[in-house]
Amino acid sequence: MELSKEIYLAIHSVIGSRSVVLHEPEFTGKEWDYLKECLDSTFVSSVGKFVERFERDLEKFTGARHAIAVVNGTAALHIALKLSGVVSNDEVLIPALSFVATANAVSYCGATPHFVDSEDSTMGIDANKLRIYLEEISRQEGQFCINKSTGRIIRAIVPMHTFGHPSDIDQLIKVSKDFNLFLIEDAAESIGSFYKGRHTGTFGLMGALSFNGNKTITTGGGGAILTNDDFLATRARHITTTAKLPHKWEYRHDEVGYNYRMPNLNAALGCAQLEQLPQKISSKRNLFNLYQAAFDQIKSVKLISEPHNCISNYWLQALLLNTENEQERDEVLQLLNQEGYMSRPAWIPLHKLPPYKLCPRMDLSKVNSLATRIINIPSSSGLVKSLI
Ligand SMILES: *Cc1c(COP(=O)(O)O)cnc(C)c1O
Repeated sequence: MELSKEIYLAIHSVIGSRSVVLHEPEFTGKEWDYLKECLDSTFVSSVGKFVERFERDLEKFTGARHAIAVVNGTAALHIALKLSGVVSNDEVLIPALSFVATANAVSYCGATPHFVDSEDSTMGIDANKLRIYLEEISRQEGQFCINKSTGRIIRAIVPMHTFGHPSDIDQLIKVSKDFNLFLIEDAAESIGSFYKGRHTGTFGLMGALSFNGNKTITTGGGGAILTNDDFLATRARHITTTAKLPHKWEYRHDEVGYNYRMPNLNAALGCAQLEQLPQKISSKRNLFNLYQAAFDQIKSVKLISEPHNCISNYWLQALLLNTENEQERDEVLQLLNQEGYMSRPAWIPLHKLPPYKLCPRMDLSKVNSLATRIINIPSSSGLVKSLI
């Protein structure tokens, strides 16, 4: 049988005949109640009790000392990078296999993304390969890591937890310490994912979450900055609220700020969604187990599972074709989409996008290979039952 047919039948055995999108939100909790409460109160904008509550609930769930709710995940990353000290002309190490927001947030700081290769097991940054690369291309000057060929400071590293699977954090923290780099986590895809029992996004100086409509839980649009640092949390609240000094009537702003705080309406949605997160994650894990049993028989393809010592939220289920079968990817995508199972390849790697074509990079052979072999298949939490 053709591979595309085999894959189609495996998915069919799990979710049956129906048209499904890749990932859809689900509002089966107190969303309507909280939204009504919000409208009735007239506090719909960036002040209100749901914003406060959402932040406290996020702190409780993630274990972060501080959560600051903002308008989207990209804004969260932008502020996290800026407050960590990324400035114009810096370079920031980011995975070439990511959503464009990771690179854009670096650009908003006036800095340049420096692309890094991935490893097979996590699809995230390959810490060992990066270490060898940095030993070769950088030198330490005082507290700084300098790129020998560009003369610029390599200021930070941004691991991203691909499709919800945690990156190799321990090794990445070691690299960041050995080379004097700030570590900021792009945890946009990984709410509910844990590395050695600790929530992703809480390891670095700061982390960013996203609550976009296609993520595991949604606030419509939204994001949050996580940090354990009191000073940075205060700074983050301040500059995302137009840097306005608190006063009853006076509008005094003491620096260039951003209008990035999450509106109360969105936070109301977030509070209701967060209450259902454990069930959603349980459904996603159940879906993974069913897919895994179905794909077990197919030799040319592997369903990506959570890394060792990690709990993944299984945000997006991903198939990885064997290298010998990579030419069959488009045929698989064609059949699945035609049969109503919305599926898509991984992002075009960032170093191939027009705004980032000229950015510095290491050898990206693994990213280039993964990008031609990954297929994301329907992953909504509503597809199968929660087991809790
Ligand atoms: C979703 C996402 C973001 C942030 O996205 P927003 O749409 O701005 O909330 C950032 N990085 C990655 C890897 C993402 O998947």
